[in-house]
Amino acid sequence: MSEQTAASVDRSVIALDVGGTQIKGGVFTGNGTVQHSEQWLTRAERGPNAVIDTILRCADELAGLATRSGRPAEAVGIVVPGIVDETAGIAVHSTNLAWHKVPMRHTLAKHLDLPVAFGHDVRAGGLAEARLGAGRGCHSFLFVPLGTGIAAAVMTDGQALPGAHGSAGELGHLVVRPGGDPCTCGSHGCLETLASASAIARRYTHATGEPHVTAQEVDRRAQAGDPEATRIWGEAIEALADGLATTVTLLDPERIILGGGLAKAGETLFAPLRTALTQRLTFQHAPQLLPAELGHQAGCLGSALLAQDLLGNHSRP
Ligand SMILES: [Zn+2]
Repeated sequence: MSEQTAASVDRSVIALDVGGTQIKGGVFTGNGTVQHSEQWLTRAERGPNAVIDTILRCADELAGLATRSGRPAEAVGIVVPGIVDETAGIAVHSTNLAWHKVPMRHTLAKHLDLPVAFGHDVRAGGLAEARLGAGRGCHSFLFVPLGTGIAAAVMTDGQALPGAHGSAGELGHLVVRPGGDPCTCGSHGCLETLASASAIARRYTHATGEPHVTAQEVDRRAQAGDPEATRIWGEAIEALADGLATTVTLLDPERIILGGGLAKAGETLFAPLRTALTQRLTFQHAPQLLPAELGHQAGCLGSALLAQDLLGNHSRP
C-alpha cells in the first residue's frame, strides 16, 4: 500500500465489478489505491433479482469494512457487462447476468445512501489502463480484453467512447467470416466465434472430441506441434488481425492494449498477431500492440476511479 499523504486521497470509496462468474470488489483510497479486495460468486443462474440482492450484500460488506477501517466510504462505483447506459444509470441488457433494463445506479444509491458511479466493465478497464496501466501518456488507444467474449474500450484523451446507446466497442461482433458459425448475438461469423478464449476451447473440442481443453492449453499444444491446435490457434490470430485491422482503419489508434486471459499467452499471441495485422495495413500506421498491465483487476480499479471522480479527487498521470 502506498503512503497516503494528501488530504484528498484519504477519501474512501468502494467499488464493484460484476461479471457473469464473479463479482470483484474492493475498498479504495486515492488514485486507485486498494485497501481491501474481495470476490464472490455471481451465480447468475439464480435469476436477475438474486444477483441484485447479492450485489447489495457485497456492497454492505465493503461499506462495513471501510467504516471499521476508520474511513467510511463516501461513494460507490459499480461496473457491469453488456449494453450499459452510463448517463441514465441503467444496465440496458446483459446476457451474462440475464439483466434487462435494471436501474442499478438508483437501486444501489438508495440502498447505501451514497453517490454511485455506474459504468461498463470494459470501458472502466480502459479508464484504469489509461490512468494507471499500459495506456498512460497515450492519447488514443483501444483496450481489448480477450476472454469469454471480446470487447473493446475506445479511449481518447482518457475518456471511453460509450456510443449513442451504450454499445460502442463491441469488437467481438464484427463479422470477420460472413456466413460463418452462429454467434450468441444472432449473427454469423463474428470475431468472437473464432478468437475468444471460449471459442478456441470449443473449436478444439469440436475438432478432436476431447472435452475440457482450455484456450491456454490449445496454445501450449500448438507450440508443441499438435496440428489441430496449430490450425485453431492460427485461425484465431487471423480473425483477430482482421477485426483489429478494421478498427485501425476506422480509429487510427496509437496503441492496442490486449488484456484478458488470452493475452497471458505472451509472444505466442503477440508476435504472429503483429505480423498478421501489419500485413493487412496499407496506408494505415501500425499501432503498438501491448499487453495490459492491470490484469483481472482493471474493471474493479476503473470502477473505483469512476467513484473517486464523483468526489472530485481524480488526478491524471
Ligand atoms: Zn456476434
